Amino acid sequence: MKLSLVVPCYNEQENIVPFFETCEKAFAGHIDTYEIIFVNDGSRDNTWSVLKELHSQHPHVKVLNFSRNFGKEAAMFAGLQKATGDYVTIIDADLQQRPEIVVDMVNFLDNNDDYDSVAAYQENRNEGKLLTFFKKCFYALINRMCDIDFKCGASDFRTLRHHVVESILELKEYFRFSKGIFSWVGYNTHFIPYEAETRNAGETSWSFRKLFKYAIEGIVAFTVFPLKLSTYCGCFCSIAALLYMIFVICQKVFFGIAVPGYPTLIVIILFIGGIQMIMLGIIGQYVSKIYIEGKKRPIYITKDYLD
Ligand code: UDP
Ligand code: MG
Repeated sequence: MKLSLVVPCYNEQENIVPFFETCEKAFAGHIDTYEIIFVNDGSRDNTWSVLKELHSQHPHVKVLNFSRNFGKEAAMFAGLQKATGDYVTIIDADLQQRPEIVVDMVNFLDNNDDYDSVAAYQENRNEGKLLTFFKKCFYALINRMCDIDFKCGASDFRTLRHHVVESILELKEYFRFSKGIFSWVGYNTHFIPYEAETRNAGETSWSFRKLFKYAIEGIVAFTVFPLKLSTYCGCFCSIAALLYMIFVICQKVFFGIAVPGYPTLIVIILFIGGIQMIMLGIIGQYVSKIYIEGKKRPIYITKDYLD
C-alpha cells in the first residue's frame, strides 16, 4: 500500500462525499494504491451513516467509529494506528486542505530520500486578525519556553513515512498535542506553504475558548518552564522587598520620615497574594494532568471498525 489517508471527522455529513470524490480525482493517475481511513469522532449528525454507505461501495474506505467525541487528537492517533501505507497523510474532512497537495507531498518524498515527512503550513491565514495575532503570540511564547522548535502556522496536514508514524505511536500520553509530538520525534521535515480554503460545509468546532484551552494544554505538555516561573517571581519579590526595606529604614534614620504604612501594605499583600495564587494555579495545571495521566485511561474507545 502506497498511501494511507487519515481523516478525523466530527459532524461532517455534507463534506464526506465531496472530500472522497475530490481525493479520487486528485489521485487518479498519480497514486495507484491508497486507503482512506475515516475516523468518526462521535459525530452528532449523519456522518456515521454516510461513512457506512461509502464503505459498502468502496473497499479502500475504512471507517473507525468512536463511542463518543474524544477530540481530533484522539482521532488522529487512532487513524495512525490503523494506517498501513508506506506514506501516511493526516488531512481534514472539510476540504480546507486540498487533496491535490497530497500528491505533491508524495512526489516530494518519492524524490527526496533524506526527508521523512512533509508538512504544510499557512503563510497567510484566512481568519480574523485578532485570532492570527494570538496564534502568533502562542508560537513565539512556546518557542521561547521549549527546547523543540514549533513552526509558526504549521498544521496537522502532513505526510509521514511509516517509520515516523511508528515513532509517534510510541508516545502514548493522554493529553496529546500533535504539533509538539511531530517536532519532538524529530526527523527531517520539509515545510511547504499552503492556503487554507474556506470550509466546504458546516462550521469549525474550534471556538476561541477551546483554542485557548488547547494552547494551555500544549504548553503544559511540552514545557515545565511555567513551574520555574515561581522561583523567578519569588527571587524578584524578595529582592524588591529587601530594597524597599533599606529605603524605608534610610528614610526614617536620615530624614525622620515615618512612612504611612496602610496603603503600601494593602498593595503589597494583594500583589504577593496574586502572584501566589497564579503560581498555585500553574502547579494545579500540572498536577491535574498528572492525575489524569496516572489513571492510564485509553485515548479513545472504538465502537465499530469497518475494515
Ligand atoms: N474534528 C474531530 N474531532 C473534533 C473536532 C474536529 O475529529 O472534536 C475534525 C473535523 O471533522 C475536521 C478536523 O478535525 O476534519 C478539523 O476541524 P475543524 O475544521 O473544525 O477545525 P479548523 O479547520 O477550523 O481548525
Ligand atoms: Mg477545518
